[in-house]
Amino acid sequence: GLQRVLRPGRIGRLPLPHRIVMGAMHLGWENRDDDGRALAAFYLARVRGGAGLMVTGGAAVSAAGADVPGYGVLDDPAFRARLRRVAGEVGVAGGLLALQLFHAGRYARPAAGGPRPVAPSAVPSPISRLTPDTLSAAGVSRIVEDFARGAHHARELGFSAVEIMGSEGYLIDQFLSPLTNRRDDEWGGDPQRRMRFGVAVVRAVREAVGTDFPVVMRMTGDDLLPGGTDRDTVAEYARALAAAGADALNVGVGWHESPTPTVQAVVPPGHWVPVASAVKAAVGALPVLASNRINRLAQAEAILAGTPLDLISMARPFLADPALIERSRAGRPVNICVACNQACIDRSLVGAAVSCMVNPLVGREADPEFEAEREDRAAPATQAEPGVRAAPSGQVGPVVRVGSVAVREPRTVAVVGAGPAGLRAARDLALAGHRVTVYEADREPGGQFRLACRVPGKADYAETIRFLTAELTRLGVVLHTGRPVAGADEGLLRRYDGIIVATGVVPRRVDLPGGALPHVRDYGAAFTDDALGPRVAVIGGGGIAVDLAHLASQPGAGRPRQVTVLLRGERLGPRMGRSTRWAVLAELRRRQVAVVSGVRDLRIDTDAVHLVDGTGAARSVPADTVVIAAGQLPADGLVRTVRRTGVWHRVVGGARDTTGLDAVRAFAEGHAAALAF
Ligand code: SF4
Repeated sequence: GLQRVLRPGRIGRLPLPHRIVMGAMHLGWENRDDDGRALAAFYLARVRGGAGLMVTGGAAVSAAGADVPGYGVLDDPAFRARLRRVAGEVGVAGGLLALQLFHAGRYARPAAGGPRPVAPSAVPSPISRLTPDTLSAAGVSRIVEDFARGAHHARELGFSAVEIMGSEGYLIDQFLSPLTNRRDDEWGGDPQRRMRFGVAVVRAVREAVGTDFPVVMRMTGDDLLPGGTDRDTVAEYARALAAAGADALNVGVGWHESPTPTVQAVVPPGHWVPVASAVKAAVGALPVLASNRINRLAQAEAILAGTPLDLISMARPFLADPALIERSRAGRPVNICVACNQACIDRSLVGAAVSCMVNPLVGREADPEFEAEREDRAAPATQAEPGVRAAPSGQVGPVVRVGSVAVREPRTVAVVGAGPAGLRAARDLALAGHRVTVYEADREPGGQFRLACRVPGKADYAETIRFLTAELTRLGVVLHTGRPVAGADEGLLRRYDGIIVATGVVPRRVDLPGGALPHVRDYGAAFTDDALGPRVAVIGGGGIAVDLAHLASQPGAGRPRQVTVLLRGERLGPRMGRSTRWAVLAELRRRQVAVVSGVRDLRIDTDAVHLVDGTGAARSVPADTVVIAAGQLPADGLVRTVRRTGVWHRVVGGARDTTGLDAVRAFAEGHAAALAF
């Protein structure tokens, strides 16, 4: 059950419908010149999906506090006008929106000609590679006033609450930490004086909004920095924030520069709950929120059951599934956030608009096609599918006519391949009211995701497949598994009005001396093979080679395995996401995976791989299993046949092109093909 999570809650005088708060996310279109339309649509979609209190991405309280060029600044009347529209529309829809008051301090990456970053002390930022200017005492007081003015704006613009951004290493944290606050004045010198800035901000914000307006303080429970703020100081700080007028403490973990991963898939779900619990223990009755790596309501329920924590903050899960709350409440499959960071955090880091790998509609909530997603809340009427009978291998559901959605004339579509691209295309075609039949050669749907979900930290990829196949069932899509489609099926394909070719990829073969030996396998086989030897050599340097090394480095049959990655280039996983690569490579190091770069002249024999390494030295790497992970080629054998049929078609995902292929692109192409039909 979800009784604890779905029980009403409260922050100050603000009643909450349940115990989940949507955490702040910088979306990258906060400042788009569209009168706030796209931003409002983003939040409204979450309101319709059952979200309670939602926190906006940061709104800078002054120009110097903006994080990146284009960031919204509260002094800008145009930005405020957009926010007014957003707050108004969310309010009318019955939603609750908190404005996050933000100052980046030394993390700021100003536009050319923009104001210089400021901070308590001139400690260089590894994020911006800039050294901030030291604030004068008067400058510090001015920023306290900026926060108060921002809070006043929030109330006046129609927001339901404010959250003060005091975590993740931004300005307020920079005052708290001895690493970044080297002052010896009113604002620094010992823990009590370093706390003063955050406390002064809370007090000023409280004064600006009055006693009845909810004020949430986002604080860092553990900065994960050697020499950073110690636990006793964090507890004392939490009590001081409460005394200054905070109605709730939202506990973050880590700074952006911390060497410990906090939100990557390699971090076990719920890992940081004890950090929030420690803050809760310090403040007693005051509501405390846990956050980071909590991606499903069942897990939130377990946290609320097992700790005195009051509320759970979830952010990325609301990108992956705007209807997270409603679907969970109804016991329906949820599109789970898999913590890949590929379309959200990695894009945000470079100042681009975020999206979501498993939900390409993020950022397009104002587009007409998003209307189809609204159907989630209505019970669709069903009717029998005319003319198509189920094959014995397939699962058959009723065809769904989508109630409120204006459907074009329903037509029949064949989707060949049930990997990410094919599943997404089939689901979105069915959602638009078409009659869809999926043919999958494998015994199970999922494609490359079925391999990925075996990698440590990627088990949730199986949830993506489960969600999409459940959607196919709900929408009456006919799924034939164990049914390859080949040239001989031209007649079958001609019977459809449209064909989506989503046949995926095949491993690239490389011609190496010894490559035909029985202990040499391609990565596809290796992913599903439980019989890897105790010494595994992986040949390849891309993301798949990294995943395989990670998988193989788990002990086999209780015995540790020695894994060696042999790559031609210098850089392992060069195309992996910026937020993820370092964390996974650290994990490989921890598991003592050896990496040999710049290899050439490879030759495989029965118990070793012989090579010349980057230094020019001849080496032999002992190996009982050799895995070739040297890239992929499109599995596009069907394309010629499909072209011959003359039927409308699209080739999507890896079947179209494997250059730069990732799952973000595969899902997006599946979705786009469905729209194009
Ligand atoms: Fe989660 Fe990945 Fe989507 Fe980001 S892109 S919300 S990490 S599934």
